[in-house]
Amino acid sequence: MKSRLVDFHCHLDLYPDLVAAIADAEAAGVYTLTVTTTPKAWPRNLELTRGTTRVRAALGLHPQVVSERSGEISLWETYLPEARYVGEVGLDAAPRYYRSFDLQQQIFERILKQCAKAGGKILTIHSVRAAAVVLDLIEAHLPPGRGQKVLHWFTGTKADARRAVDLGCYFSVNARMLETDRGRDLIGILPNERLLTETDGPFTKFGGRPACPADVADTVLGLAKLHQLSLDEMTATINKNLTTIVSSAGES
Ligand code: MN
Repeated sequence: MKSRLVDFHCHLDLYPDLVAAIADAEAAGVYTLTVTTTPKAWPRNLELTRGTTRVRAALGLHPQVVSERSGEISLWETYLPEARYVGEVGLDAAPRYYRSFDLQQQIFERILKQCAKAGGKILTIHSVRAAAVVLDLIEAHLPPGRGQKVLHWFTGTKADARRAVDLGCYFSVNARMLETDRGRDLIGILPNERLLTETDGPFTKFGGRPACPADVADTVLGLAKLHQLSLDEMTATINKNLTTIVSSAGES
């Protein structure tokens, strides 16, 4: 199998034209996971990605919208049987969202329990200023073998990262994480076999415009340097990790 680029966390439905964004990712040959922030977006994302080879949609309820949209958890549950991928979900304890942190935890716990019950789901998880609590909830409610966990744009401590590795988590790394000493330092301790790449577009920029899935090429290069692998080796490792996640998510 030819190695391809992987963008495991991108918000294609936040670009001006979702149809074009999906077509571009598909044409570029990038395995792309397009996440959603509300379950209301799920039917359209599912429909538009269904005919593609490399673009998959994830069913989300973003922690940053939980204060206004917690009631949509029942809709999220309704759609869960149709979804192999789940996200964006998780917790955000930054000042702007801290008021809803208790509610976010209730929602995330419910999501993890539903995923564990269903089995076979692959989650892309947000953990801004909340890595330890995210890991506590994962440990309590989504045991290994009942689903795969990918921590997106992880900014916890090294101790948090080691604990996440022990809990079986993967990490999707983006270009912004590689820009700081702290980010590189953290990514440097992550095992190669737990690494994926992401853009989190359009929230990251590339050359002054919103990043698109093909821009992960730059991140693969950065990771290869950091982990002292050739570009081909790093690309192959990321492809292998993706295959492992998909094939070992557990029975659904
Ligand atoms: Mn995101």
